[in-house]
Amino acid sequence: MRPMPPLAAADDRLRRWIARQRRVFVLTGAGCSTASGIPDYRDDDGEWKRRPPVMIQAFRSTDAVYKRYWARACAGWPRFTAAAPGAAHHAFAAWESAGTLLQLVTQNVDRLHQRAGSRAVIDLHGRLDVVVCLGCGARTDRSELQASIAAANPLWLADAVAAPDGDADIADGLIESFAAPRCDRCGGLLKPDVVFFGENVPVDRYAHARDALARADALLVAGSSLMVYSGFRFVRLAHDAGLPIAIVNRGRTRADDLAELKISADVGSTLSDAVPRDDRQRRPVGNVTPL
Ligand SMILES: [Zn+2]
Repeated sequence: MRPMPPLAAADDRLRRWIARQRRVFVLTGAGCSTASGIPDYRDDDGEWKRRPPVMIQAFRSTDAVYKRYWARACAGWPRFTAAAPGAAHHAFAAWESAGTLLQLVTQNVDRLHQRAGSRAVIDLHGRLDVVVCLGCGARTDRSELQASIAAANPLWLADAVAAPDGDADIADGLIESFAAPRCDRCGGLLKPDVVFFGENVPVDRYAHARDALARADALLVAGSSLMVYSGFRFVRLAHDAGLPIAIVNRGRTRADDLAELKISADVGSTLSDAVPRDDRQRRPVGNVTPL
């Protein structure tokens, strides 16, 4: 038998890059959550893979758009809530414990970083598990709303969720028969507490992230094509300030020219191999036989 060939040398450029930094500002995007079953909306060239997200103006002013949004959101909710943190989320949480990850800013609205244990997280585009009334400002839990939507659409939900992909387009006929939710208190329109296209990131949230970037000595982008300006502007600010920039993303990004290190690879496995870990947390406890 021929001897096994040696395993391919691990790409340790990112590990070495991270090891050189003391206070890293991390910006994450959809590529961190695809392994958790939450779909990415863009392909490797940064183009839309499916129907682009709803614009806020149409959501507010067009009943059919509002209805379609909530019908699709309602059908996709079970899959969304079934998602669990993946390798990328766990890697960032471990890195934060090890001390050189200063601030994580995510463009994702799934809260998977927090569920993995990350604490210094800014949800730049908000969170999908909270709903806000556009009339009176009341905030409610999305799971509670799902229950009342289900109660108002007892037969509808079964038909829609039976579709193979909960996020798939729902037939127009099915949307017409859907009763979209309204605020219990004032009858106003309800919107998830996320930044829609056509909206700006709230000023104080942006300032919080920008202040963190001012204290950072490097910026890492993970799993984002940076096609949305609200994320891209942090990379531009970092570049203007002379900070070293690294990017891990499958496919092209808007900031490839600004990075000193670009790795086109899976975010979860790349980060898992590269982040520093607090050795105290890895020391075996009790009778563990080392491999
Ligand atoms: Zn209201």
